[in-house]
Amino acid sequence: MAGRVHIIGAGLAGLSAAVRLSQAGARVSIHETTQYAGGRCRSFHDDQVSAVIDNGTHLILSGNTEVLTYLERVGARENLVEGARAVFDFLDVQNGKRWSVDLGFGVGALSLIKWLADKHRQPPGLKPFQFLRDIRALKRGRGKTVAQCLDIKSELYRTFWHPLCLAVLNAEPQEAAAVLIWAVLKETVFKGGAYARPLFAPDGLGPALVDPAVAYLRSQDVSMYFQRRISSLVVTDGLCTSIRFHNAAEVLGDSDAVIMAVPHHAVAELVDGIDAPDASRAILNVHYRLSGAVDTPTIVGPAIVGLVGGECQWLFRRGPIVSVTVSGANAWMDKDTDAIAHALWPEVARALRLDGDIPAYRVIKERRATFAATPEALAHRPGTRTAAANLYLAGDWTDTGLPATIEGAVKSGRLAAEAVLEDAAS
Ligand SMILES: Cc1cc2nc3c(=O)[nH]c(=O)nc-3n(C[C@H](O)[C@H](O)[C@H](O)COP(=O)(O)OP(=O)(O)OC[C@H]3O[C@@H](n4cnc5c(N)ncnc54)[C@H](O)[C@@H]3O)c2cc1C
Repeated sequence: MAGRVHIIGAGLAGLSAAVRLSQAGARVSIHETTQYAGGRCRSFHDDQVSAVIDNGTHLILSGNTEVLTYLERVGARENLVEGARAVFDFLDVQNGKRWSVDLGFGVGALSLIKWLADKHRQPPGLKPFQFLRDIRALKRGRGKTVAQCLDIKSELYRTFWHPLCLAVLNAEPQEAAAVLIWAVLKETVFKGGAYARPLFAPDGLGPALVDPAVAYLRSQDVSMYFQRRISSLVVTDGLCTSIRFHNAAEVLGDSDAVIMAVPHHAVAELVDGIDAPDASRAILNVHYRLSGAVDTPTIVGPAIVGLVGGECQWLFRRGPIVSVTVSGANAWMDKDTDAIAHALWPEVARALRLDGDIPAYRVIKERRATFAATPEALAHRPGTRTAAANLYLAGDWTDTGLPATIEGAVKSGRLAAEAVLEDAAS
């Protein structure tokens, strides 16, 4: 294309757009307000736990094809290591009961049917006919919450649907949009265990997903400006004509385009007239550094444990670092960090069968981790194109059909890039 594409925001949506555009030979500039790429998905060295940690642990599944294609494009597919089977260990922190949800490694409906027929691979309380009724209700759940589609008094709700909803939508089932959980299940679990295997980033999310894209973009001569906060976009007569920053402005040429890949809460300050979900939900992560070897039946190597009946929903282990996640965590945001770490440690100790004092820790609060995935919010998710002919949108909050996830962010960036290329060609 003749012009240059300016991408605002170097989160995964912006990076994905830049990668797709530079592969097509477009000239690209990225403007990012912070000093680093990755946005809400980043890694850094933390002195308190003496390790590289992620801002929050992220669950990525083998059915996340947008993520895998993005990594293939930048030559870094091997950075995510796949579990051999779709197995997730669980612990009920109230009664100590442990089980595994083992979706296997098959492909297609037969894989799901085999799973439904095998009690040993299911969560407690699963009755196949009830499960099939539940998924039919979620599929038809447009305008409804997850809780409105399910029997919230059933054991399966407690052991499976409730933790799944919090993990996938970062919202309680009472407010979470049913169609979004359906969208994720359709791309993963319902395609068979082969599509629901967890993908691990052994060195962290940044090294796996962000650094290779930045290296690739640099190799393609993409201009990357960090610590450049865009303060507004000027739109005149249906065209974005300049980008303002630091009391300066970059005036756009006639063939230039802009992809705004900022989070939902940053849209309004940049440009008027673009709808976006306005409420956010928080995620809390606590990273503990274990000293000495940890040898338990459930935790060997990189591992994930779902926690039911407590405050945390997930426990991830990477080397000596054990990280727990509390989703839908708005109520935790104003609590003291030391009090949080002490309050959650007993659940970790129980899951890993550890004795002894609380080890070194780092608490990370992400107040605006995702938009609130309610049925009402879905009406405020715009598509890629805007009223300004050369202004496009990307970000996990745009209308990808998916929840606010890495998969959704990467997809949104690809869609925006393809819209730019399509319009330039027409
Ligand atoms: C703690 C936590 C846990 C999560 N867990 C999971 C999970 O398990 N699985 C999963 O798939 N997803 C998970 N997510 C969601 C996932 O991280 C996000 O959906 C994804 O990273 C969003 O990418 P994005 O590019 O749309 O937005 P962002 O990552 O927010 O990127 C937007 C970028 O725009 C920049 N920016 C903002 N304003 C300006 C401006 N004015 N000028 C220039 N730049 C600007 C920001 O600095 C940022 O770098 C989690 C998120 C968090 C916070």
